[in-house]
Amino acid sequence: MTRVYALANQKGGVGKTTTAVSLGAYLAAAGLSVLLVDVDPQANATSSLGVSRKILTHSAYDVLLDRAPLEQVIVQTKQARMDLLPATPALAGAEVELVAADKREYQLGRILERVIGRYDYVFIDSPPSLGLLTINALTAARDGVIIPVQCEYLALEGLGQLLKTVYMVRDSLNPRLIIAGVVLTMYDARTNLSKQVVEEIRRYFPAYVFKAIIPRTVRLSEAPSYGETILHYAPASVGALAYQALARELVQRNRTMPAGD
Ligand code: ATP
Ligand code: MG
Repeated sequence: MTRVYALANQKGGVGKTTTAVSLGAYLAAAGLSVLLVDVDPQANATSSLGVSRKILTHSAYDVLLDRAPLEQVIVQTKQARMDLLPATPALAGAEVELVAADKREYQLGRILERVIGRYDYVFIDSPPSLGLLTINALTAARDGVIIPVQCEYLALEGLGQLLKTVYMVRDSLNPRLIIAGVVLTMYDARTNLSKQVVEEIRRYFPAYVFKAIIPRTVRLSEAPSYGETILHYAPASVGALAYQALARELVQRNRTMPAGD
């Protein structure tokens, strides 16, 4: 059964895209089929996977506005078993254009129903805002939201607002929406601050925090510029091993938890 997760946090630069792409890469390498859905107008997941905007005639924008069928817009990536619904900057327009649409919060979920059963995992990478694109991602997330949190000063700032949005979506749009997990990112073992943040986040989300902690490493920040996932760019690096451990943990959690339906 297909597992569908949204990566969300309205705070920018916390590791949503890196986590979506890296989890996808490790699950695909483990033999599972993965669809990455990029609904961020910045299109970082798309470019991180080496898919150039220049070759794209359509994107998630056209799909969300019912101007192109999903199957025609999904592209293969360099990595076996990992497909992508790409984003382009045009998506910024969808945020506005969808406002007039009927059931505008359900567009993405409705569209993704067509791939349920065709992939093992779907990861939806959302933009750093709590606008309509993120609401669509949360509504479509049949198996929950994964929240990356940076191990930095003010890490908890804004989480209250994010949780309010998650509960609002759960109460009115997607009763299945759970917090599937919190990922601690950009951990710097040299600083006490990072350690304090880990403790603070674990106190704040007692049941949710993944054991695998993602360190701050230059390899993880370099990989996207080569259009490579960390699995191919630097497979032996500490960042790669951390994401591999995270992917294993997610699969392990799912063994003990029934899929969305
Ligand atoms: P946005 O909110 O803009 O979509 P994001 O939450 O998706 O950002 P990323 O794009 O994954 O965050 O990460 C932000 C920047 O930090 C990127 O340049 C990325 O390559 C880099 N980065 C991500 N994770 C790490 C890490 N663990 N160590 C070092 N750099 C990282
Ligand atoms: Mg991003």
